[in-house]
Amino acid sequence: MRLASYHVHTRWCDGKESPEEVVLAAVRLGMTDLGFSAHGAWPFATEWHLKPSSYVAYVAEIRELQRKFRGDIRLACGFEADYLPGITYPDYGIYAPFAPDYLIGSVHYVSPPDTGILAPPWSVDAPTSEVASGLERCFRGDGTAAVRRYWELLREMVKSCDFDVVGHLDLPRKRNGELRFFDETAPWYRRELETTLDAVAEAGKIVEVNTGAISRGAMDDLYPSAEALAGLADRGVRIALNSDAHSAQDLTSAYDRAARALKNAGVRELWYLGDKGWEAESLG
Ligand SMILES: [Zn+2]
Ligand SMILES: [Zn+2]
Repeated sequence: MRLASYHVHTRWCDGKESPEEVVLAAVRLGMTDLGFSAHGAWPFATEWHLKPSSYVAYVAEIRELQRKFRGDIRLACGFEADYLPGITYPDYGIYAPFAPDYLIGSVHYVSPPDTGILAPPWSVDAPTSEVASGLERCFRGDGTAAVRRYWELLREMVKSCDFDVVGHLDLPRKRNGELRFFDETAPWYRRELETTLDAVAEAGKIVEVNTGAISRGAMDDLYPSAEALAGLADRGVRIALNSDAHSAQDLTSAYDRAARALKNAGVRELWYLGDKGWEAESLG
């Protein structure tokens, strides 16, 4: 199996090491492909995003590493770009000045409809206490309303933005083990999921299987759930395997487990970024 991750963070945003340290670790692991995906909210930033003044230097550093390690590993330069309507979008039109090789589109922040852009949103990916306080602040503690809104925003992003890979598809599950703010088996949740899988298939996006919650101890499961993954396989949606590593030691964390889940779901091939764009290779 070609060993890859296109969802990798470094010190340029909230990761632990420099890109070169990550490349050296990837080569030691026998990885064939590595994509850097700095958190982007261009032209804005929170404390965990790439600073707007650093975009040019970030891209230049990855391009230099591509030259230096040519022959050892195939490197790519991308962004994990936030979708915050009215503020920032994961879209090639917006990121064009930096000529990325690929874009991951992620929803980390969720606001109720008709909220002013200055009101702090619910941070879905935050530590547990912050997820809980955001639910109270933005949705009066109504977890169902919050998660429905997450799915609505994700579908909007998929339909309206030009990017490659949907990041951590069912992210609200991350803190649901501790907070139990919604029921993944409820009919409304299953309907939201099915509608979203249809939208993803229709838009032709790639979906990542993301092992980041396991490696960081946030949730003992992959994104997306086994049920969602089977639904994606049924629809013929292209799948990439990513670690969402914030540290070199997590570059291929839980990949054996992910491979089993992929096979169980009926996924037969994974997608990789080649010289001429995304290409499939048998899961083997
Ligand atoms: Zn993310
Ligand atoms: Zn990430």
